[in-house]
Amino acid sequence: MIQKTILFCFFCLGAFAQKGDYPIQPVAFTQVHFKDNFWTPKMQVNANVTIPYTLNQCKITGRIDNFRKAAKQIPADKSTSFTFDDTDLYKVIEGASYSLQTQKNPQLETYLDSLITIIGSAQEADGYLYTFRTMPIQKPHEWLGAKRWEKEEDLSHELYNAGHLFESAVAHYQATGKKNLLNIAIRNADLLVKTFGWGKEERFPGHQIVETGLTKLYRVTGKKAYLDLAKFFLDLRGKEGHLNQEYSQSHKKVVDQHTAVGHAVRATYMYTGMADVAALTGDKAYLSAIDDIWHDVVDKKLYITGGIGATGNGEAFGDDYDLPNMSAYAETCAAIANVYWNQRMFLLHGDAQYVDVLERTLYNGLLSGISLSGDKFFYPNPLASMGQHQRRAWWDCACCVSNMTRFLPSVPGYTYAQNQKNLYVNLFVGGTATIQLPNTAVTITQQTAYPWEGKNDITIAPAKTAQFALRIRIPGWALSKPSSGDLYKDETPESPIQLLVNGKVFSYKMEKGYAVVDRVWKKGDKVSFTLPMDVRKILANSNVKADKSKFALQRGPMVYCLEGNDNTSASVMSLVVDKTAPVTASYQQDLLNGVMTLNMKGFTTQRQVGSEELVKKTTDIKAIPYYSWANRGATEMTVWIPYEETAARPTPAPTIASKSKVSGSVSNLLMLKALNDQYEVENSNDKSANFLHWWPKKNTTEYLQYDFDQTYTVSSSSIYWLDDSPWGGCRIPASYKIYYQKDGEWIPVKVINQSPIAKDQLNTVQFEPVTTKAIKMEVQLPTDNAAGVIEWAVK
Ligand SMILES: [Zn+2]
Repeated sequence: MIQKTILFCFFCLGAFAQKGDYPIQPVAFTQVHFKDNFWTPKMQVNANVTIPYTLNQCKITGRIDNFRKAAKQIPADKSTSFTFDDTDLYKVIEGASYSLQTQKNPQLETYLDSLITIIGSAQEADGYLYTFRTMPIQKPHEWLGAKRWEKEEDLSHELYNAGHLFESAVAHYQATGKKNLLNIAIRNADLLVKTFGWGKEERFPGHQIVETGLTKLYRVTGKKAYLDLAKFFLDLRGKEGHLNQEYSQSHKKVVDQHTAVGHAVRATYMYTGMADVAALTGDKAYLSAIDDIWHDVVDKKLYITGGIGATGNGEAFGDDYDLPNMSAYAETCAAIANVYWNQRMFLLHGDAQYVDVLERTLYNGLLSGISLSGDKFFYPNPLASMGQHQRRAWWDCACCVSNMTRFLPSVPGYTYAQNQKNLYVNLFVGGTATIQLPNTAVTITQQTAYPWEGKNDITIAPAKTAQFALRIRIPGWALSKPSSGDLYKDETPESPIQLLVNGKVFSYKMEKGYAVVDRVWKKGDKVSFTLPMDVRKILANSNVKADKSKFALQRGPMVYCLEGNDNTSASVMSLVVDKTAPVTASYQQDLLNGVMTLNMKGFTTQRQVGSEELVKKTTDIKAIPYYSWANRGATEMTVWIPYEETAARPTPAPTIASKSKVSGSVSNLLMLKALNDQYEVENSNDKSANFLHWWPKKNTTEYLQYDFDQTYTVSSSSIYWLDDSPWGGCRIPASYKIYYQKDGEWIPVKVINQSPIAKDQLNTVQFEPVTTKAIKMEVQLPTDNAAGVIEWAVK
């Protein structure tokens, strides 16, 4: 019965497609079954660990109780932290729905039904569903506003919650054929249609996603008012009399936006929504805007890992070519959004360059967002680390956790697409799919050890002999074109890719990045090819300062990194590898659940006391796939590898501070380590290095202490203060004082000269020499802020 409903739904989507939708249609995740050694185990971890884990987190953090409180089933003492917490439950239901396709789980299906009942009971009579307002709470959240939607353009997230509800409901309906969640979504969407529109409530969503949710709901129900509402929400942005800010892409009308600015997740969800509406309405102005924005991102704002949104300040896109590595924000949610957007761009244009970006993101900057164990997550995905970045089990703002939970089981839906008698092969994953072309049904089977090996045998089994074109994506990386513009280049000579049909060389033509095999197919026909798995040294555009005199290693779709665990010199940022050094690949079954490693020779660089000359030592160097880093504890990591020693960060020479034991009124060991790591920063707001802070304290007296490894005579202290204004809560301190230890007592030093307290520079105090084994700094925090320290040196 369920199977029949799914088929019905599948064909009904197809019918809508012909009325005006994307010219190319994805082959639904329900039709594609992976059987491989890369994605299948990850999807099993998602089903067995991540989904139950996230469901349980929603329970123990009170997210499910939010709904029960709104339904007045339990007392509403307090809500959880954020007004968008409802979406975590929607997202995990969405992920669980996808996963039911690959792994039957009646128990999970029943549990989802019970959650959907709870969600339904929190819905108000007119369809309004937003637990933070509905629960009868004493002190409502400050983001709420007094009336429904009042603060929508700012932070209430009412429409954001609705958007995730719609996305989840459609996935649940497609996967199970059940309408229980869909009906809740429809009641809510009908309320939105009644409430919003020109001459009615004119407000746009402060955080986009309702646009794509509405278009999905439109496709399933055929109700055009949903599509019109999505367009209304987009067209309202940038109008006078509304909140106009780059942060939420409301600084201009959407059709006048040609560059990517502001909060990266908001932005990319919006571009995805614009693509949906453009496909469904034929709006050319939308298309032209997102085409321009796509080039802006891909030519100037995309990390080699596919990550987007370079800065943590506003979780936003940075300036052109501003792609710092250690402070890279590259939020997991933004990587997921980047896949959504590029998939839509492909469906609009049929060009493989969009799938190239999708694949780069998927295998690198997105997959890094989750641990191999499936229960630890990255929010930012940096491209370099001193060990300060580790995946975490949870955040109060859990967007990345639930987004990863919902995305991973949907991966099969990105493998194939179709348009009339064209069958696109976009991703290379072992397994089988069934696809209905206009003239025949086709079963397609890929046999491949991708992403580690380039060989692929594709078997075609049409229900009856028929002519159609198989369009096989030849990835840009395989043609030495790591990006469609000039942001990244690969100097590896391009090698021709041969394609065999039933063992005979087939002379194919290339169209928009696809090898086209247009012929009459019969059952058992086989197409074979091997993508070149050369190790590639990718160079960044010279405008990217952070990557100067460095290369990144790529093999197949995988971007690599160096991690301390695999290298004799754990400070991998001190390593240098010649641009022409040979690199060999070797598969290690026992490492990180089985990965292809890259091995080469290079040298370490180290500073010495009393000389500018670097000490260099030849060493073996091993690289691992970027996605698999940070699964073995805190170590240094770098994606970009210096080929000139000027770009390396030599291991610093020891100093009194670096040999000291650090303590203070902070217990975090990583923070204490920051004081004497000798990492140089550009300014007081440069959070690329480790730092120590006392946030959220203010107006208190704090201290830091160095216990020396022996007695020294010292006469100066130099401090670099953290000041992360305007976004952060740390400023330079009100005052500070240096003490030294004598006979177990702390005695203030006699100051000879003290520079004024200032940010962006070393603050040095010179004092009468003291002979001691320990020194202490007392810090008075400002009245209204915390303070922090990036580095503290003593001489
Ligand atoms: Zn996130």
